[in-house]
Amino acid sequence: MSETTADTATAPRRAPGEPVLELEGVSKVYPGISPVVALDRASFTIRRGELVAIVGPSGSGKSTLLQVMGSLDRPSSGKVKIVGDDVARMSDRSLAGLRATRIGFIFQQFFLAQNSTALENVADGLLYAGVRHRDRLKAAATALARVGLARRANHRPSELSGGERQRVAIARALAGNPAIVLADEPTGNLDSVTSASIFTLLKQLNSEGTTIVVITHDRELALQMPRRIEVLDGRIVHDVTVPEGSGPTTDGAAPTPDGPAPSERVPT
Ligand code: ADP
Ligand code: MG
Repeated sequence: MSETTADTATAPRRAPGEPVLELEGVSKVYPGISPVVALDRASFTIRRGELVAIVGPSGSGKSTLLQVMGSLDRPSSGKVKIVGDDVARMSDRSLAGLRATRIGFIFQQFFLAQNSTALENVADGLLYAGVRHRDRLKAAATALARVGLARRANHRPSELSGGERQRVAIARALAGNPAIVLADEPTGNLDSVTSASIFTLLKQLNSEGTTIVVITHDRELALQMPRRIEVLDGRIVHDVTVPEGSGPTTDGAAPTPDGPAPSERVPT
């Protein structure tokens, strides 16, 4: 397993494969008269450069998983490590700092300020990362360009389509150059054509180097992703990686142990 060749020590521009997020036996129980085991001993590692879909039906524990992965909530038991740091050993304050600088969040509801322009919405995402105003605006403009919205920078959310609003939220998640982007049902409020274009964007951003985990209940969209983690009743029931070069866009025989044939792929 361990690599000892000199090649790996020659400071590559990006060290591929380095763990960004590690879960070890993570459970989450919501207390109450009848406690809910929302997450049951989940274990997996997300490495730098990965693009991962987390799939599962409604109520299976996907959002709980995202909250725990993003340190928005602490697990009831088990270990969560974000870029090597054990969340359990960190104060709430340092966790907030970690979230502001290392994680980009995208939600179904966009969460944009209605009276701010797209540029201001993206720039404000860097407030808690301690970035100066001038640099925030610069980073925001760059991020908007990455999602194809350079020409919409001065528009307010009400002047944008649903897909464009989600692109603004994606730009906000990217602006601080986080180690990982976590998206919870980012296309849940969008029609199928717009959803497909958002997934195409996520794939493009990943090919440019961004590590992305996207939660979806849309199996068809999930099938486009190189790795799929399937959740059922709080448990990880599948964790499938399609080997590089055998994805749905090539003629290689992609292993599809639990999915439809490659011919059912969604056009991009
Ligand atoms: P999903 O995102 O896959 O729909 P969730 O993670 O939202 O699933 O929910 C998983 C389970 O935990 C569900 O049974 C849900 O009702 C329950 N749940 C989620 N959040 C809470 C909470 N704050 N308190 C109690 N139960 C919760
Ligand atoms: Mg959910």
